[in-house]
Amino acid sequence: MSVGRRTALLFTGGPSLAGVPSHLVLRLVLAAAIAASPTLAAAADAFSRLSRLAQSAAGPGQVSVRFMGTSTILVEADGAQVLVDGFFSRPTLGEMLSPTMPPKTGVIGQALARAGIEKPKLKAILVAHAHHDHAMDSAWIAHQLGAVLVGSDSVRHVANGQGFAGKIHFQEIQGGQTIEVPVRAGIGREAIQFRITAYCSPHSATWFSLKPLTQDLPKNAGALAYTAGPNYSYLIEYKGVRLLVHPSGGYRPGLYRGLRVDVLFLGLARTGRLFHAGETEAYWREVVEETQPSLVIPIHWDDFTKPINDPLPPLTWPVDNADLGLRRILALNAKLPVPYDIERMPIWSPVALPLKPRIHPAVPPVMVGC
Ligand SMILES: [Zn+2]
Repeated sequence: MSVGRRTALLFTGGPSLAGVPSHLVLRLVLAAAIAASPTLAAAADAFSRLSRLAQSAAGPGQVSVRFMGTSTILVEADGAQVLVDGFFSRPTLGEMLSPTMPPKTGVIGQALARAGIEKPKLKAILVAHAHHDHAMDSAWIAHQLGAVLVGSDSVRHVANGQGFAGKIHFQEIQGGQTIEVPVRAGIGREAIQFRITAYCSPHSATWFSLKPLTQDLPKNAGALAYTAGPNYSYLIEYKGVRLLVHPSGGYRPGLYRGLRVDVLFLGLARTGRLFHAGETEAYWREVVEETQPSLVIPIHWDDFTKPINDPLPPLTWPVDNADLGLRRILALNAKLPVPYDIERMPIWSPVALPLKPRIHPAVPPVMVGC
């Protein structure tokens, strides 16, 4: 989740709210959102006007992707799957205000079945950070399907607090680290694998806590107890095809310098409310222009307090203005002599990526740490 600096200043700087704890301010804002909810559906929607990729089936050796709201993305090739986040519970704003917010295991189970995410295909779950809209369902899925859970130490504290300590295979990851997820044996002794590299990228500014979790999260904790810890973008490589999932709308200057990718999943959370136009330009330059993707797919733009439907509503006031964020991105793209291909994913349906990847220079050394 991503809630931004400029709005936060309104609440922390005003005399009438001086001294009010930030979690109470957040509760007030969420309560206001509930009161305003009838107006949310009427928001202008650049997303529904964006060209949508068609559902298509992948052949042997081909990578396919599925988008299921926020930054929940399934990457699949040759019968093996890697899932980013796996957030399906999508608590309502009312549920987020409650001190107890258990994962909705019935909803998660239905979602896994619908997307064909199953044992033993699912090999790994890559978690961006420990906020609930990324981490809350991931350990349950890892346990259910026997997949490795990959994330920060804060994500481990979420899993442990849910009772999965010692019951799942957890792999802590850090910025600059690469792991290989075996898909199958290749010809001779060549193994075929997903190669996954973590890039520590700042979370967008927010009034939800960005601190790391230093102890196990209480079981069924409420939304405010999920603090982010480090945020990771993941480069996923398979047979020369490169996907970069950049889930949170922050950037680290130079993080992607020299990196070239085929598909960029671009997080738009908070880019409409947090960013000035100039900041959007820096975000665009550091994340899109640095990586020169053949295809840009916006993610984390949907209202994650609503169940997944197609079309999804974009995030609106007071949490975000995703529509404005997208329009700013599209305006920057339109200025280019050769614009990038920016398209949206269908919800739930698989989209096969082009069989022939571009020839890329080697992945440059990755910044270590955060
Ligand atoms: Zn977050």
